[in-house]
Amino acid sequence: MINRLKIGLRPRPNIGLGGVAPETAASRPLASPASRPSVMQAPVLVLNATFEPINVTAVRRALVLMLKGVAQAEETNHHEVHSTSKAIQVPSVIRLLTYRHIPQQSRALSRKNILLRDRNTCQFCAAAFPASELTLDHVMPRSRGGRSSWENLVACCYTCNNRKGDRTPEEAGLRLQRRPRPFTLHTSRQLMRLIGHRDEKWRKYLFY
Ligand SMILES: [Zn+2]
Repeated sequence: MINRLKIGLRPRPNIGLGGVAPETAASRPLASPASRPSVMQAPVLVLNATFEPINVTAVRRALVLMLKGVAQAEETNHHEVHSTSKAIQVPSVIRLLTYRHIPQQSRALSRKNILLRDRNTCQFCAAAFPASELTLDHVMPRSRGGRSSWENLVACCYTCNNRKGDRTPEEAGLRLQRRPRPFTLHTSRQLMRLIGHRDEKWRKYLFY
């Protein structure tokens, strides 16, 4: 089935899935709102072959993994996307067909993930802010060898960031709300829950 799907796809290397078909009656026999770009960006929970949650990806990437035969859908939502010849149910949860060892250190260190871990809360003044009003602070300043790591980066409001400058929290008279945690399985699950809190279908895999 996967091979047949592959053959039907138009070659559009940047998209990988042949793109979402235009909204015509012919290509949308079951009329759904799947052609909206937001559908392709929606989060999909990725499970290892053992059903252990390992990652969150976007629908677009999940579909590529499915079409490559690397993963299969475990849960789908009500949307469909269309290749030239097929309608495919948009996955909500996918599972890798072969077990992959995932080293903890490889988990994505990103501004978004740090803000999620710290729940958009300045780790010095404990106030919550919209993401746009937060920056990342190197607890041990970069100028003094502080690394960009889960253990040395925290969400920080601009006021606290200016106050701290190139100093350690102690030197600046600031106190960390809590030590920044490394990325553990616990953090990982917590992030997945935060990202997927609207999707009921993720729950049984994340042990709510
Ligand atoms: Zn602050």
